Amino acid sequence: MLTKYVLQEMPLLTSLFFIFGVFIIYEILFDGVRSVLSLKEINIESGFLKAQLGIMYLSILLFGLQTLVVNRQTTWIFINFQIIALIFCAVFLDAPINYPIFIPIVLAFMIFNSAIFYWESWCFALTLFLFYYSLKYIKKKRTNSFPFIYYMLDGLFFGTILWGLARIKFSLNGAIIFQQVSYLIVFEIFVYSYIGFFIRDIRVKQTLYEFAHLDALTHVKNFAAFDNDIHSFFNQHQSNDINVAMIMFDIDHFKNINDHYGHLVGDKVLQQVADITQTVLNANDENINFYRTGGEEFNILLPNYKLSEIDSITQEVFTAINNSQFNFNNQTVDVSVSVGSSEIRENDLNSDEFFNRVDDALYHSKRNGRMRITKS
Ligand code: GH3
Ligand code: MG
Ligand code: MG
Repeated sequence: MLTKYVLQEMPLLTSLFFIFGVFIIYEILFDGVRSVLSLKEINIESGFLKAQLGIMYLSILLFGLQTLVVNRQTTWIFINFQIIALIFCAVFLDAPINYPIFIPIVLAFMIFNSAIFYWESWCFALTLFLFYYSLKYIKKKRTNSFPFIYYMLDGLFFGTILWGLARIKFSLNGAIIFQQVSYLIVFEIFVYSYIGFFIRDIRVKQTLYEFAHLDALTHVKNFAAFDNDIHSFFNQHQSNDINVAMIMFDIDHFKNINDHYGHLVGDKVLQQVADITQTVLNANDENINFYRTGGEEFNILLPNYKLSEIDSITQEVFTAINNSQFNFNNQTVDVSVSVGSSEIRENDLNSDEFFNRVDDALYHSKRNGRMRITKS
């Protein structure tokens, strides 16, 4: 009895394992390509790579599978897989709407399948597009949680239409349609659960990554982020010739502030200095990066800026901090900073040489009376 049941349900089980296999191989492929690219210092935005690679991979797979059944009676056999691939593109890969690549892929698929002269196939393709838009719409409207039920209902609605069209085109009987739509429901439950789990997992990792790269006291980026970014900007300077400037500043006589007012006030000064600086930088250019790299030492990395182009930003940060009121518990604390700045030069062999030049400039400001700016 059990054996009979298992055998009867084998297509469902094998299909499920097949779908999971496809997803897992994609994950391995994506991780592999991403690490090769990062080893070669090629910078491709991870979301873009994920979508491009996924569409390529799924297209090859869909065409490959279809070669098994093309010109046969059973060209409809992989329809559920096509629907699942579409869900994967829209919900997991988050491939952009109007993606110009989809139209040629669908047309090529129809020609390949000798389906181009059938009105049912055109309706089928159109329904797939509408399904895709509806999934993206749900995703856009519900950004905070994973809308499992909405996705399921949407998938069931469009799945039934698609199988209805397949029934007309291939003159399939009601039992087959019923079986395929029930399979589709099971696949969707598993696929949406898998994607939901995966998206939650990615969010957790992202939060951990942010914690690891943010300074707990000031909430600006920390030394780990700075160390990573300065290397990456230096490499971008070498490969793409982008300009990179750096401003570094250190609070003057900060030890005295701690000694006079206590560590808690010292901490508040650090927070306020970070807030002021971040506000000035945001007002100038969102692409400027700000870090707390040491106790009372901060760094600003400015990609696409020459040293000659950062005078006003440097001056704004300097004046904003020096002129701000630092009041805590009815006490006014005098805060000033010393600043050093420079840019990556052609003869810099590595990012350390760039960093040391900025550091030297800062110490020049310190040695020459503090509360001043030195360009190097
Ligand atoms: P200079 O003008 O030469 O920079 O003198 P300074 O006193 O600012 O420099 P110094 O390096 O002698 O002292 C830095 C002080 O910063 C010592 C340390 O206790 C304090 N500090 C480092 N991290 C923190 C922090 O997170 N909170 C507080 N409150 N103090 C900190
Ligand atoms: Mg200091
Ligand atoms: Mg210091």
